[in-house]
Amino acid sequence: MSDRYKCILLVGAPGAGKGTQGKILGSIPGFYHLACGDVFRSLDLTSPLGKKFMEYSSRGELVPDELTVEMWQQNMHAQTVLSLYKPAQDLLLLDGIPRTVAQAKALEKYLDVLLVLHLICPDEDEMVRRMRRRALKENRIDDADEKVIRRRFEVYRRETAPILNYYPANIIKEVPATGSPAMVLMSVLDVVAPLQDHHFRNPLNP
Ligand code: AMP
Repeated sequence: MSDRYKCILLVGAPGAGKGTQGKILGSIPGFYHLACGDVFRSLDLTSPLGKKFMEYSSRGELVPDELTVEMWQQNMHAQTVLSLYKPAQDLLLLDGIPRTVAQAKALEKYLDVLLVLHLICPDEDEMVRRMRRRALKENRIDDADEKVIRRRFEVYRRETAPILNYYPANIIKEVPATGSPAMVLMSVLDVVAPLQDHHFRNPLNP
């Protein structure tokens, strides 16, 4: 269906570099980057949803699916109404959502998933180091505690990794996420640039 958002999903364990790559790609005209964790962090943390987010994220756990999908939907609506995201022209880069098979199913009616970019970093200790550095820099309390980080890995393996079996194998591309952000970017662009080029040359009718 053409009224679904054409999108690329960024998937990877915590610390694999989804946010870093997503932000870089999002600065290229024709991409719109939306990180679910950033949307949660921007909430008023004294609001009911903000409190829920703190309750779960401080333990390294996922916010329940229904709340997450509803928040995502409202946010997408707002971005579209404000024309920050222009579905006819922009390829949507979703970072950190869906994070469970239930979310993937719930989002199906909104998304036309062109590609699932799986960032792979086999070295868990390297990812933990990245997360602790980032936690200090970006004031992410959930990532400052190693116990919470390890919990996030468990949750990733149990709840998020199965979405890689949910999408058809031919749209899943694996990219090694080890090395500098610029090196990783080269591999990411190899996969993503041709897709964006196609979208750029064939914008949808609004
Ligand atoms: P992130 O910035 O992507 O590492 O996300 C930080 C925290 O936000 C996660 O540990 C979860 O508690 C919550 N979160 C982000 N995205 C989702 C999602 N799609 N589903 C449920 N919880 C999420």
